[in-house]
Amino acid sequence: MNVQLVIDNVAQAASTGKTYQRIDPISAKVTTTGAACGVDDARRVAASSQQAFKTWSKVGPTERRRLLLAAADALEGKMELFCTVMAEEIGASRLWSQFNVGASANLLREAAALTTQIKGETLATDKPGTLSVTLRQPAGTVLSIAPWNGPVILGTRSIAYPLACGNTVIFKGSENSPRTHELLAQAFYDAGFPPGVVNFIISAPEDAGAVTEVLIAHDTVRRVNFTGSTNVGRMIAQTCAKHLKRCLLELGGKAPFIVLEDADLDGAVNAAVFGAFLYQGQICMSTERFVVDEAVADTFVAKFAERIRGLEQGSPVTNPASVVGPMIAQGSVQRINQMLDDAIGKGASIVAGGLAEQAQMAPTLVDRVTSAMQIYDEETFGPVTTVVRVKGAEQALEVANDTAFGLSSAIFSRNVSLALDLASRLDAGCVHINGATVQNEPQAPYGGMKNSGYGRFDGSAVIEEFTEVKWVTVEPSDQPYPF
Ligand code: NAD
Repeated sequence: MNVQLVIDNVAQAASTGKTYQRIDPISAKVTTTGAACGVDDARRVAASSQQAFKTWSKVGPTERRRLLLAAADALEGKMELFCTVMAEEIGASRLWSQFNVGASANLLREAAALTTQIKGETLATDKPGTLSVTLRQPAGTVLSIAPWNGPVILGTRSIAYPLACGNTVIFKGSENSPRTHELLAQAFYDAGFPPGVVNFIISAPEDAGAVTEVLIAHDTVRRVNFTGSTNVGRMIAQTCAKHLKRCLLELGGKAPFIVLEDADLDGAVNAAVFGAFLYQGQICMSTERFVVDEAVADTFVAKFAERIRGLEQGSPVTNPASVVGPMIAQGSVQRINQMLDDAIGKGASIVAGGLAEQAQMAPTLVDRVTSAMQIYDEETFGPVTTVVRVKGAEQALEVANDTAFGLSSAIFSRNVSLALDLASRLDAGCVHINGATVQNEPQAPYGGMKNSGYGRFDGSAVIEEFTEVKWVTVEPSDQPYPF
């Protein structure tokens, strides 16, 4: 499959002719060949977005809503194609692809509804005869950088909300999922968005830094949003600081899941299996640390391990029923094996699964993890999860907060008052009481604390991210001045 850049709604090769390849980690075959955007292309893209902003920023909310609703339909119409492409390109199960597309269509409809909710305020003023108001206006061009792991939903949120607010978008897809991201961009072209309103680029991994900097530095780019690792997020934040551009960062996670003594253990295990192993644990909200009261730990671990061993595994291309497919790259195998070796060497026990030889890794549960182990607070981003045993609710909270990250979390307890109290003291952007850590609804604000980033997608909070607030007064021209 070949993927091109799309500038002014025209698919095209990179100006240098350069391409790069996405390689399947199991077969070592090329899944996709992508046009590699260079710095000259980046300047052309920015110029196109700048030109389109002049007219798009004046388009009324009803038309913006119509186009976003049409994009939702166009996206849903590609459901089967997404399932095929995502299985081939990134090893996604049918379940994960369907969730991505369905949730993205919902998000587009929510973004469509927001177009008429972008409001200013009337302000109190001490000046007689004066009207003092705020206006909320489009900011300019938004540079949206999305990763491969939840390619449709994370890409959609990065495009739909800026568009709803009247901005133009440069969508930079991931080098690991170029075809999937191109399909997503295509839904906007099918819907009828005018040329330059959504431009689509992908770059070779080695050019990502240079291309991104050219775009961030450009006058037309007023906002940047990045979803990806904490390391790259920090680099993006530094570049944004250099050019005084505002950014929204959705970064890594190490979601804790507290199981208290009085928890519904069967319900907790259901949420545990789903939250830890959906898309082989390669989700920022994947449960990576179960913090379990020692009074119920043996029972919880036994029930959880039994369910893990029964999970369907294998390539979703050849086995559509597979839940746990291959990881994104062979590099993940070495990284995770090394963490497992470290944990075993320091006293942890593997209860299910174990070290992997290839990207198709068995779902793995590591019990008796302690803070001395690397796996305690490093994101595994694979089908591996851990159990830390604790005594009582206060120690559980301490261990759940003992992480550099702060994205999603869960608490299982029948004592809802206690759970609510713990929720208020958890350092996480999302807390789910008696629910899984992997959850997303477009009407609820989503984002992290600490090394998981800052800013919020979704909900009405997103309007703040992608608009500019302006103070405007209308005053009597003959008012007195002190001199
Ligand atoms: P990554 O940070 O390696 O890559 C993300 C994107 O950054 C890619 O498109 C890549 O081209 C680009 N990039 C790489 N180097 C760059 C540079 N120097 N300058 C500019 N851009 C550069 O992340 P990934 O491996 O694709 O995704 C996995 C990570 O994303 C995990 O840490 C996961 O937790 C996180 N994530 C967070 C959320 C969230 O909502 N918080 C959602 C999904 C994934």
